[in-house]
Amino acid sequence: MSQPQTLLETKNLTKHFVTKRSFLGEPLATVRAVEGVNLTVEKGKTLGLVGETGCGKTTVGRTIVGLYNPTGGEVLLNGENVHATLAGPSAMTIRRKMQMIFQDPYSSLNPRMTVGDIIREPMEIHHLASQAEMKERVWDLLKQVGLNPEHASRFPHEFSGGQRQRVGIARALAVNPEFILCDEPISALDVSIQAQVVNLLEELQAKLGLTYIFIAHDLSMVKHISQRVAVMYLGSVAEIAPSLHLYDNPLHPYTQALLSAIPIADPKLEKSRKRILLEGDIPSPLNPPSGCKFRTRCRKAFDRCAEEIPVLKEVEPGHQVACHLVG
Ligand code: SF4
Repeated sequence: MSQPQTLLETKNLTKHFVTKRSFLGEPLATVRAVEGVNLTVEKGKTLGLVGETGCGKTTVGRTIVGLYNPTGGEVLLNGENVHATLAGPSAMTIRRKMQMIFQDPYSSLNPRMTVGDIIREPMEIHHLASQAEMKERVWDLLKQVGLNPEHASRFPHEFSGGQRQRVGIARALAVNPEFILCDEPISALDVSIQAQVVNLLEELQAKLGLTYIFIAHDLSMVKHISQRVAVMYLGSVAEIAPSLHLYDNPLHPYTQALLSAIPIADPKLEKSRKRILLEGDIPSPLNPPSGCKFRTRCRKAFDRCAEEIPVLKEVEPGHQVACHLVG
């Protein structure tokens, strides 16, 4: 059996945003959006990234693909430093390898371009094919995402939300990427359409060997598509584990609370489901709590939690937790 190969890795990835400066340019207020995040994604697999709004998951994703420069740490794709490469002559090559599917298919497609032109544009930018080849490729991509070649001459407003997201996926595939950041790609879609888009992403992954980071706040959908899941809270990873394992045996009090909120399909089990309510809002990343950042909402917090930052520790193979009560 072949060994799993790491495609993407973040090492101590940190992203701060200075929101206020003094007259002399000294930072007066800093949002600590991402703090020391270490993630690995194996080739051909999906890592789910979950957490409440404001937990830093989208900032991690956008820093990985180079939309933001990191404040610290690094991102490696096949061992190559992404941000160093983006600053040099091979920037276009690494940009081609890393693509993104956006949350909102309504605003991410140019309304004045036909769907054919939208899908063709990245191929033109990267000089990947002749005009005739691009036309064939656009038709092929439309078929791969479950649309018809005739759709190439239509405009985005002529499509439903689910169809527009399929166009967004075709555009991402147009340059033969190795890695795709799926930034809440189903959040803006009807529930009935969400599963179709997730199934399409899974089919394409199996066919093309793609590697995904799938960002979402819907934990049930993340379980379906991801082999591993990382739970983020206030810019840090609270727990990371193989997907099924995390759902069967969550160890961090925050993960336990998030999972307790998922409805169970079986009415008998649903009746006995005990929901752990998270009180209060996520604290401001401008001024995070001392020690464990989750302590202000944790029902198990004790003295040590205010004094010492819990380190992410491996408690069983592949399962890491940042909590003083575990490990
Ligand atoms: Fe709760 Fe303390 Fe564990 Fe943080 S370290 S999750 S506050 S018990």
